[in-house]
Amino acid sequence: MAKIRTVLGDISPDEFGPALVHEHILVDFIEAEKFSRDRYNREEVFEVMLPYLARIKNLGVKGFVECTPAYMGRDAELLVRFSKALGIHILTNTGLYKEPHLPKFAFEYSADQLAELWIKEILEGVEDTHIKAGFIKIAVNPGIIAPIQQKIVRAAARCSLATGAVIACHTANGAAAMHLLKILDEEGLENDRLIVVHADAEENIKYHLEIARRGAWVEYDGLSQNTSEKILKLLRFMVDQGFEEQILLSQDAGWYNVGQPRGGNIRGYEYLIEEFVPLMRKNGFDQDLIGKILVENPAEAFQIG
Ligand SMILES: [Zn+2]
Repeated sequence: MAKIRTVLGDISPDEFGPALVHEHILVDFIEAEKFSRDRYNREEVFEVMLPYLARIKNLGVKGFVECTPAYMGRDAELLVRFSKALGIHILTNTGLYKEPHLPKFAFEYSADQLAELWIKEILEGVEDTHIKAGFIKIAVNPGIIAPIQQKIVRAAARCSLATGAVIACHTANGAAAMHLLKILDEEGLENDRLIVVHADAEENIKYHLEIARRGAWVEYDGLSQNTSEKILKLLRFMVDQGFEEQILLSQDAGWYNVGQPRGGNIRGYEYLIEEFVPLMRKNGFDQDLIGKILVENPAEAFQIG
């Protein structure tokens, strides 16, 4: 049975949407070896971020995918607190980002050893908790993927093959996406287990089409007031090409920035629902299509098992 794996346990996919599929609550950009929970105060992060999440809960958002990787501020226990306080379904992740956010063992472990660790985080719990990861978050550099990231991609593929979890990969450009798809093919992974994160950063539309044609998810997650026209055009184009079932939409917003007073300048999560959905309607996207992008596609993409 397909399900979505939240920090509070598994739910049915039809309970998940509308969902924001790529957001952050807490991020620390310190290098991996210096990262520690002592660098922030959980109580303060909870207090600062709660109103932002409450606001989208009140706008009808049910699912929230927290994309902060391990060693950059992934804090599953904190996510459980938010989820219990608000009744929002929150997903956390397993996997690793890229340099300088890779711990030493990322270089020492084989792809199979990394995969084994991540499978454990999905089946049993992240770090020393019983809170399970619901997806795999990794990253690749632009262009030809560096050897260390290639190993991480292979580990992610093996973890996905073993668990069914989707891989959300930070992908800086189209060339990297093509190399990524090639490695995943070699590993025998179905392309619908890949979300190409930050697809809107690639200016050449032929890559968007190629990613979708190959069956992977095209994620437009750079949505804000400043990018609304561009994203609207991309959505329109992909829908006209018949790829409305492979688009994901989010804002990469938030977040409490560790090291800055009370998290610094935080960007709220409400723009997509409050302003962009009405803009979509005004531009001819009907309720079915909006439902597809915000409810059905997230429920499909994040299915596990
Ligand atoms: Zn992000």
